[in-house]
Amino acid sequence: MKNNSADDDKRNESPVNGSFTAITEGVTATVWTPDYVTRLRQNIHRCSCPGCDSASPLLQFRWKNHVRHSADISCRRAAAEILCLTASCTIAFSEDAAEHLPALPAESLWMNQRCLRLFAVFQDNPVLLLYVLGRFIREAGRLVPSQREALLETWLQPDARQRLIDDFIRQPQGTGYPSAALSSLHKLPLSALAAGDARLPKWEEIRRMNEAELRQSWTKLQKASGLRREEQRKILGNYLFYELCHTIFPGSSPAEWENNFARLCQRLLSLNLLLLVLPPDYGKESVSALLAASLYAARVKTFAGSPEEKKAFLSPVF
Ligand SMILES: [Zn+2]
Repeated sequence: MKNNSADDDKRNESPVNGSFTAITEGVTATVWTPDYVTRLRQNIHRCSCPGCDSASPLLQFRWKNHVRHSADISCRRAAAEILCLTASCTIAFSEDAAEHLPALPAESLWMNQRCLRLFAVFQDNPVLLLYVLGRFIREAGRLVPSQREALLETWLQPDARQRLIDDFIRQPQGTGYPSAALSSLHKLPLSALAAGDARLPKWEEIRRMNEAELRQSWTKLQKASGLRREEQRKILGNYLFYELCHTIFPGSSPAEWENNFARLCQRLLSLNLLLLVLPPDYGKESVSALLAASLYAARVKTFAGSPEEKKAFLSPVF
């Protein structure tokens, strides 16, 4: 992988749920540019937050057959562009010359593409989307690659979509989050959030809860949030889009998918809880600044920690 901010002059704009260029290996590499990258490139005023320290937050991950543009969300300006979008999330596709680098496995790109198609369908309800992604990687992991396409196409049919929604609703009362997220609240990476902040006592109280206590408190927390439910969902959806693009979720092998899914759940729940403890009149820009600052603080803490913690923090997942 390498990182630069080269422009794509052969861009072919296409929505996330549009048709994709066939994945081919050879003299060209497919280039995916999420819209938050495009907006960051257009809005080039300097940011000097601790997360970027005046450097560009733009990132570029390169393989022989693929280039993925992204950004460092611990920069406040990048976090604002990623989280505050009110329109649909999109990706621009183009091609670039292949370089002498290791190849991104075609199956990894294929799975990432399919997860983004599920995102396009279920993005209005991020916790439902998480549920669908979890089921998809579990069921796809038991199939040979040629059967995974049929599974996805089946799920995209209206009646199958409704069955997924019904199954999600029929889950036991609670947050909707999988246990993979709820069982490790004390490990939430946003624990370093804004030391000295007035919201910290509430945050610490949540971190001490066990799964049952959080499930019981969930509705009360939802009602106390300073953001409307629709605003919360859009921010969470924007964050999921970033995670799917940035980490090339779900990863390179079925054995890795489950771990990466658990990490995705924990990160989304962290942001969700952050939104729930915000007081009224707290704007979306303030949310993104707070998230960037907390991720930066988590990074500082992580890089002072064990090699395992460092590895867990680094992304993308390859
Ligand atoms: Zn910055």
